[in-house]
Amino acid sequence: MVKKFIDPGHGGIDPGAVGNGLVEKELTLTIAKMIRDILVNEYQDVEVKLSREGDQTLSLNERTDMANEWGADFLLSVHINATNGKANGYEDFIYPGSGDATTAHQNVIHEEIMKQVDFYDRGKKQGNLHMLRESNMPALLTENGFIDNPSDAAKLRRHAYLERIAQGHVNGFVRAFNLKEKAPKPPMWDGSEFKEGQIGRISILKRINLWKRDENNNLTFVRVLQPGDRYRVYGYDNLYGGQYNVGGGNWITKMEGYIKYETPSKAMMKKAAEFYK
Ligand SMILES: [Zn+2]
Repeated sequence: MVKKFIDPGHGGIDPGAVGNGLVEKELTLTIAKMIRDILVNEYQDVEVKLSREGDQTLSLNERTDMANEWGADFLLSVHINATNGKANGYEDFIYPGSGDATTAHQNVIHEEIMKQVDFYDRGKKQGNLHMLRESNMPALLTENGFIDNPSDAAKLRRHAYLERIAQGHVNGFVRAFNLKEKAPKPPMWDGSEFKEGQIGRISILKRINLWKRDENNNLTFVRVLQPGDRYRVYGYDNLYGGQYNVGGGNWITKMEGYIKYETPSKAMMKKAAEFYK
C-alpha cells in the first residue's frame, strides 16, 4: 500500500489568490478531490489522505504535521498562482537539493501534467517552501495557472479543464510510483473495422462507470472509463434504465451527456474505417 498525502492549498479564512471571479482555495480543493477519487477508484493499493476535505483553516505546520504523522510516502501540495495578471502558465517546485528520487518524480509528474493541459510551461523549479521543507517525505508543489490572468482563468473556470489538470497529476503518479490499474478496460476500438456481432460504438464523453453483470444480472463496479475512449457495442437492453453491452460481460449505462452511441448504416459499416477516421 502506498500512502499519498494531498494538500489543497489554503482554505477557511485564507482564500489564497483571488481573481476573475475565482478563488484559489476552492479550485485547489476541487482538483485535490478529483486526484484522490481517480487514484482510489482506478488504481490498486493506493491510500490517499487530504489535508482538508472542506473549507477549514489550516496552518502550514498543521498540514506538514499531518503528513508526517500519517507516514505518507509522498506529499503533493496543489496551488493556483497569481502575480499582477501578466504572468501565465504552469510550474512546479521541489525543495532545493532534493535527492534523485524527488527530482525524478518532478520530471515525470511535470511531463504528464503538460501532456494534459495547454498552459504555458514555466518549467520545473526549486523553492524553499514550507510544505517542501518541513515534510519528511519527497514533496512536490504544483502551481496550476494564474488566477489573475484572464486567459488562464478562463481555463480554470471550466470543470473539464480542472479534470485535465487532475488527470495529469494522476498520470504522473502512475508513472512515478508504478501504480497498477484496478481492473482491465474492455478492449478499446481503434475504429478500423466492425467485428462480428458488433452493432455500433460508444464514445465516452464524461467519466462513467463500467459494470460487470453476473448470471443474475447483478452489477459489480469494474472501473471508471475515460473521456475520449471508444468501445465496440454488441448489444443493448432495458435493464438499469438501459445498458450497452461492450463485451466480456461489461456493460455501460445509457446516460445523457456521458456517452455518445452511434449505429452506422450497413453501407457505412462496410466502410467503417473511412467513416470513423
Ligand atoms: Zn497558493
